[in-house]
Amino acid sequence: MIFLDAAATTPVRREVLDAMWPYLTGEFGNPSSHHSLGEAAAAALADAHAAVASVLGCRAGEVTFTSGGTEADNLAVKGIALARQASDPQLNRVVVSAIEHPAVEESARYLERFHGFAVDVVPVDATGLVTPEALAAVLGPETALVSVMYANNEVGTVQPIADLAALARAHGIPFHTDAVQAAGWLPLDVKGLGVDALSISGHKLGAPKGCGVLYVRGRTRIEPLVHGGGQERGRRSGTENVAGAVGLATALTLAQRDQAGLEERVAGLRDGFVGAVLDGVPGAVLTGHPTKRLPSVASFCFPGTSGESVLLELERQGVVCSSGSACAAGSDAPSTVLTALGIPAEVAQTAVRFSFASSVSAADLEAAAQAVLAAVASVRTLGRA
Ligand code: PLP
Repeated sequence: MIFLDAAATTPVRREVLDAMWPYLTGEFGNPSSHHSLGEAAAAALADAHAAVASVLGCRAGEVTFTSGGTEADNLAVKGIALARQASDPQLNRVVVSAIEHPAVEESARYLERFHGFAVDVVPVDATGLVTPEALAAVLGPETALVSVMYANNEVGTVQPIADLAALARAHGIPFHTDAVQAAGWLPLDVKGLGVDALSISGHKLGAPKGCGVLYVRGRTRIEPLVHGGGQERGRRSGTENVAGAVGLATALTLAQRDQAGLEERVAGLRDGFVGAVLDGVPGAVLTGHPTKRLPSVASFCFPGTSGESVLLELERQGVVCSSGSACAAGSDAPSTVLTALGIPAEVAQTAVRFSFASSVSAADLEAAAQAVLAAVASVRTLGRA
């Protein structure tokens, strides 16, 4: 099987599992306990905070471990917006881009439904980019928070985060970015990016599902969503997932260590794959930005097919990929990301996303490109559009 769905999830890396193992077995203490087992767990958790902070270029106290990317996004969007509204009731608008992951989009809608916020949606251009001009047009004195994702999970477009964050900062508005897809591929230095909050998910990086991180800049006020024993400096109560935190920290550290040359290598392989598909499949369209994109994502529309039929055919040929985000898989509705790019609904329904792990090989992508040519031709011949 050639697995080209790494944007959905990745297997746990051996080194990550090895690092986690002690905290699932012999060193099983609760970090809040005041005996030696508890102290060992607390020390491992503190090391995990420090390791993540070193990758992000921030202080350990600015790192909060969560149950994943979804929780990190919820905490950032709801937590910061609610804290700002509490300090000034006029701050009752949140800005999100038109192509956010549901974890951000639905958090904003929750604020609208239950907390009197209005949601301002920044449009994207046909390549999926949010321009500083488009963002400037929706910022106002009532804006409590801006959230724009670093890299999109369906089309791979990478946003000019430093420019967008600088604009928000000039207005005194906190800026959050969902870096779940960017982590492992793009720089995560939060000072260079100029962001106030940034979300990461472990399972996209070779750590297990169910662990994530939210970075929150020291001065930024944030209301916790989960109340209880005050763990994670009161930002996220609940007995900590020590092994998960250690695993995520290890995965992030390894990804940073391996990052030199990775983007170039994988982008080169991706370009070869994209070229082969565009040359070999009449009418195929690459979605997203032609150059400002993740090295790891190539997504297409194949007019005259249905994305789901192409997926099934590809799987029969041993290539596993996705029709869009894993969250929307199986749904008949056209992708809101693709329609936000101006792609007509009937074309959006023909979308197929290929996403690569850092270990992807030229041989795999050459074989996959041949499989795509055959699969699309077969679906078109059989009229399974
Ligand atoms: N944000 C983006 C951009 C994602 O791609 C995903 C997962 O696909 C998430 C958030 C959610 O992360 P998790 O699966 O850890 O909840």
